[in-house]
Amino acid sequence: MPDKFLPLAKPDLSEEEIDEVVATLRSGWLVYGPRTQRLEEDFRAMTGTKHAVAVSSCTAGMHLALLAAGIGPGDEVITSTLTFASTVNVILHAGATPVLADICADDLNIDPAEIARRITSKTKAIMPVHYAGQACRMDEILPLARDRGIRIIEDAAHCAGSSYKEQPVGGIGDASVFSFYAIKNMTTGEGGMVTTDDDSLANRVRILRNNGLDNNAWNRYSAAGSPFYSVLEPGFNYRLTDLQAAIGIGQLHRLPQFNARRAELAARYTESFAELPEIETPTIRDDVTTNWYIYVIRLSRLSISRDEVVAELKQRGIGSAVHFLPVHMHPYYRETFGYKAGDYPIAEREFERILSLPLFPQMTDADVDRVVSAVEEIVAQHRA
Ligand SMILES: *Cc1c(COP(=O)(O)O)cnc(C)c1O
Repeated sequence: MPDKFLPLAKPDLSEEEIDEVVATLRSGWLVYGPRTQRLEEDFRAMTGTKHAVAVSSCTAGMHLALLAAGIGPGDEVITSTLTFASTVNVILHAGATPVLADICADDLNIDPAEIARRITSKTKAIMPVHYAGQACRMDEILPLARDRGIRIIEDAAHCAGSSYKEQPVGGIGDASVFSFYAIKNMTTGEGGMVTTDDDSLANRVRILRNNGLDNNAWNRYSAAGSPFYSVLEPGFNYRLTDLQAAIGIGQLHRLPQFNARRAELAARYTESFAELPEIETPTIRDDVTTNWYIYVIRLSRLSISRDEVVAELKQRGIGSAVHFLPVHMHPYYRETFGYKAGDYPIAEREFERILSLPLFPQMTDADVDRVVSAVEEIVAQHRA
């Protein structure tokens, strides 16, 4: 009998989260209430930042962080081409111009030298994307922004629970934005969090997420609140609901366990692939602690393409994925900005051979062994 399909990722939801959702329903307070406040407070404590502002997604949070930082038409924002498209979409939504940069071959993060090369008098923000859970080389990126009026807005979608030089990701640049999408390390289904030490940036994100209403509206429906509000600027409805926050509270509580289990599974993969020269395992720099959001191998010396390896794994009941098709290769970006093959040689070369293998806390050691055996078999059949 064929084995059950092993997906790339799967959320780990417990009775703790289910009970909290039910309690939220029974409370009748579904949005903008005590559970959102609790999740913000707990997340703030984890990152050690002054503020944590819950939003409806990482995408929404990045959009607001850019607007709150004053980024708009005429401004350039530098980010990695090896990211999920929403990082770049929000730069356009803010009215600014995205400037893509190539990556480092070792950790697949944005290359600080590439950022430096692309800074102009119009550069108003840099958006480092912490790929796969491993923070970028922030010590080289931060000085590029200092004294130039350039803001650092981090795409920390992959990074809940990661740290850089012993400091939790979240309080390094001007703002960091996390994702609680279904397959991220902690989830609320959809959701996100903006963290920052900057009071005015945090305040503006709070206003913009709630249609531009002043903050007194927070308690509008409680005995302590005021029924009056005024609109300070045209904002958005980017709120997280209390039902989602109820899931997030338990997820955040269990995040250290999730990440510890991910690290064990990743170590098992890395050990198992040690003798297989066709498989390069992830390079983790020694100045970071990764949360192992994804486990990305690189293929070499095979007679078949990476896409064919994906298909071979699928035939064996194993899910895999590619993070990511570089942004400059997507039709919209290619056609709008005139990118062509060869513009970002490292990202293009690595894209051809990256492959994300199943990794989630509920995976067993036997699941890892099953993936390893399948990869070994595919490699043995297709050595170049
Ligand atoms: C998942 C992801 C996002 C988007 O997060 P949402 O919460 O779904 O908006 C942004 N950037 C990167 C790098 C991601 O992987």
